[in-house]
Amino acid sequence: MIRLDNIIKTYPMGKRELQVLRGINLDIGKGEMVAIMGPSGSGKTTLLNTIGCLDKPSSGKYYLDGREVSNLNRSELADVRAKKIGFIFQTFNLLPQLSALANVELGLRYAGISDRNLSLEALTKVGLADRAHHRPSEMSGGEQQRVAVARALVKKPPIILADEPTGNLDSHNGAEIMEMLTGLHRDRDITLVMITHEARIAHYCQRIVHIEDGLITAEEKV
Ligand code: ADP
Ligand code: MG
Repeated sequence: MIRLDNIIKTYPMGKRELQVLRGINLDIGKGEMVAIMGPSGSGKTTLLNTIGCLDKPSSGKYYLDGREVSNLNRSELADVRAKKIGFIFQTFNLLPQLSALANVELGLRYAGISDRNLSLEALTKVGLADRAHHRPSEMSGGEQQRVAVARALVKKPPIILADEPTGNLDSHNGAEIMEMLTGLHRDRDITLVMITHEARIAHYCQRIVHIEDGLITAEEKV
């Protein structure tokens, strides 16, 4: 489903270039659940953003569902994201002035779907139907991340990408989010790629990819 072929990403840094990804080769099959681990600054977020079509590689090829996406323009990439990819972030990234339900509806609007029932269904799935009209500031961190999970899954994307989804949660709430993601992955055959610093969290996945200094250094089967 995801195939990265010698992906290199550089950022201009004054007169020089900073090479953040230095030749990444990675295949992720449909329905796999994969953790990416590595030190801070090793390129994990850059890699996930590349997989998520938020960022274009400087060179190398990226195939998503058999189609090369590394050569698409911005609007084509936005289209791929809208159809195929749900994102979950460490800091939840909910809009503070909107209710939980309205935040989930945004996940649909970007995909061009308008169906309020789907949003309520997604909130119910994460156990928050009774908090639909609360704003993020009225919810705990764990609840906010569950809203973000609902926002990511409401359009039923085949791929979910999560950048340290439990990084701002205590271990109880972190485990709850991981149980939820594991369940989704199992029930809907979702392909899930997540970054984490914690081995305990990574072990919810079937495969752990270690990255250091822009290169994959090891892979483990769990
Ligand atoms: P990680 O998520 O593993 O901590 P990142 O992928 O965020 O690492 O960043 C890897 C390196 O790339 C860091 O040195 C960071 O400063 C640099 N970097 C990330 N994004 C940009 C950018 N947009 N412009 C310049 N440098 C960047
Ligand atoms: Mg990061």
